[in-house]
Amino acid sequence: MAPDNRVPERLDRAVIFLGPPGAGKGTQAKELAKAYRVPHLSTGDMFREHVSQGTPLGQQVKPIMARGDLVPDSLVLKMVRERIERPDCSHGFVFDGFPRTVAQAQYLSVLLRQNGYRPALVIYFAIDPALVFRRITGRRMCKVGGEIYNIYDRSPKVEGRCDNDGGELEQRADDREEVVGPRLQAYEKQTEPLVSYYRRLGRLHEVDAAQDVESVKQRMFEIVRNSR
Ligand code: ADP
Ligand code: AMP
Repeated sequence: MAPDNRVPERLDRAVIFLGPPGAGKGTQAKELAKAYRVPHLSTGDMFREHVSQGTPLGQQVKPIMARGDLVPDSLVLKMVRERIERPDCSHGFVFDGFPRTVAQAQYLSVLLRQNGYRPALVIYFAIDPALVFRRITGRRMCKVGGEIYNIYDRSPKVEGRCDNDGGELEQRADDREEVVGPRLQAYEKQTEPLVSYYRRLGRLHEVDAAQDVESVKQRMFEIVRNSR
């Protein structure tokens, strides 16, 4: 029988994608956000936008990101609060790369309550860290639309060009081999505790992120459909 790909009309909640860098969160978050017509809120993309525009925040976070460290909670939380209070978030949104510390998660639950949202649904992308190295170093992103490729197994039709808009593909500064180690360490130390934090709260739904993109996508939609 064909899988049921229909989605209910509205998301009406916050969905959090949790997992190590390179697990496939961005790839799937874009699909979920598109299906429900809600914003895809990648804090990493927001910071990269600030860096490329040279804003004061961008200048502050650029060296932190280049080292593979986490940006201080106060800067992340201010940016997130301003973003989710915009009207386009009123029917829900998909967080990708946020929260990344227990303090961020605690602040988020208060913020959601204050803004009238239900508790967030958390989708955990479980994967052996040894597998993400190739995904991270092979990742290329479109400079125009942000589409995500991989030179090893999700390559574009024309080398270096986006299939959607022909935009140039580039490697993120922090996807170079030497930054991968520090990023994974930051994940293990500061973000992984969120797995047990959300599991204890009964919010965590796990996806085997080592599977191919299509299988992960099916599982993700199944979780969202069944967790109304
Ligand atoms: P994250 O947002 O978790 O850092 P991405 O979605 O950017 O991860 O994916 C990291 C890299 O792995 C990208 O190059 C992407 O094309 C590739 N990728 C994503 N999901 C899968 C998958 N299920 N199998 C193989 N490669 C994947
Ligand atoms: P990402 O695109 O999610 O891999 O994030 C890229 C980088 O942006 C991270 O390595 C951090 O330096 C920074 N960043 C993104 N989101 C957060 C967050 N929620 N908390 C702290 N730093 C973040």
